[in-house]
Amino acid sequence: MDTYFKEEHLIFQEQIRRFCETEMAPLVDEAERTQTFPRHLFRRMGELGYLCIRYPEKYGGAGADKITECVLREEISRVCQGFASSLSAHSHLSTFPIYRTGTEDQKREYLIPAVKGEKIGSFALTEPDAGSDTKSIRSTAVRKGDHYVLRGSKTFITNSPFADYLLTAAYTDKGRGYHGISLFLVDKGTPGMTIRKLEKEGIRSSDTGEVSFEDCPIPADHLLGEREGTFKLIMETLSEGRIGVSANMVGVAQAAYEAALRYARERTQFGRPIGKFQAVAHKLADMATRIRAARLMVYSAAHLLDRGKPCTMEASAAKLFSSETAVEVAREAIQIHGGYGVMSEYPVSRYLRDALVYTIGEGTSEIQRNIIAKQIGL
Ligand SMILES: Cc1cc2nc3c(=O)[nH]c(=O)nc-3n(C[C@H](O)[C@H](O)[C@H](O)COP(=O)(O)OP(=O)(O)OC[C@H]3O[C@@H](n4cnc5c(N)ncnc54)[C@H](O)[C@@H]3O)c2cc1C
Repeated sequence: MDTYFKEEHLIFQEQIRRFCETEMAPLVDEAERTQTFPRHLFRRMGELGYLCIRYPEKYGGAGADKITECVLREEISRVCQGFASSLSAHSHLSTFPIYRTGTEDQKREYLIPAVKGEKIGSFALTEPDAGSDTKSIRSTAVRKGDHYVLRGSKTFITNSPFADYLLTAAYTDKGRGYHGISLFLVDKGTPGMTIRKLEKEGIRSSDTGEVSFEDCPIPADHLLGEREGTFKLIMETLSEGRIGVSANMVGVAQAAYEAALRYARERTQFGRPIGKFQAVAHKLADMATRIRAARLMVYSAAHLLDRGKPCTMEASAAKLFSSETAVEVAREAIQIHGGYGVMSEYPVSRYLRDALVYTIGEGTSEIQRNIIAKQIGL
């Protein structure tokens, strides 16, 4: 990683690893069991300046580069991908669009409290009938005097069961095609809004919900930015987000690999540690190799972004490869653990359940391949 890491990245990595191991790791079992994110982590991370580190100091952030953010995400995911998912829905998906196009009032009211962990955000794009095909969302927001009337439903929305605001996508003008999709800052408790928490098999320690908007009155100044039509911004948010999600997947893969390596050294069969059997040693060698490749892809994409270079191809390739790597590594980690691999007392089956979420979430592997195919001229 010498090509991409400076001394400051290494120092930060050590610092954040210590935080994750001492303050986050003890919370994981309870959060997974109760399927509830420990909300005080937002405040705690806000106090320490770890929550939304990329935004400028003017808004309470640290003005950090993308590489630093990826280091942070990798370390959090190494301990718990559920926590990393909730944190990334907050620190990127539901705040980046505000940072990019929000009015100064909106930044004061939403972004600054979000950076401190005082307000929790959620990003509501997906609908029951519109996942990969984002343009086919059906939610609408119709202007009526000083407010909009929001109608529609959303599903799989991270943080929605407890979020203070939902950055919600809806059509304001169908006549403009997908350019007629806008984002709204919808406050918790808005009349007509109901949220139901969903139960999941993966990332259990992150709360997910489905949301229904029945003629919700949304003040006109809660339209994000100065004017309607923010589809390009939504795409930019998702594209940049892919690099961060890839870092999460490297973290999960690393955790699974470390667990398998430890186990291969400790577990003895036929009079020797199982890691001494070539079949097991080669699995671990392949796991280590794939993780190194995935990590290089993540940090080279982050490096491009930090230098303002185009990185659509690199972001999608990193997302595709790192999420598929995390699934493969976690699956092999279970195999190396034998029967213990599927017992709850060992974390390896959690790593697989969590990794599987991200060959789907924030753009499926098939959609990443479509983007890459387009980039190579097909
Ligand atoms: C745990 C979790 C948390 C989430 N959090 C959020 C959130 O906070 N906010 C939010 O807005 N969304 C969220 N999502 C939604 C997520 O982004 C979508 O699940 C994802 O984009 C896929 O959409 P879908 O599930 O409707 O699948 P579909 O789009 O219906 O896809 C089903 C299958 O068809 C394939 N497919 C579809 N179109 C094509 C194509 N053109 N070419 C090839 N294959 C195709 C897909 O790859 C997939 O294999 C979350 C999802 C999960 C599971």
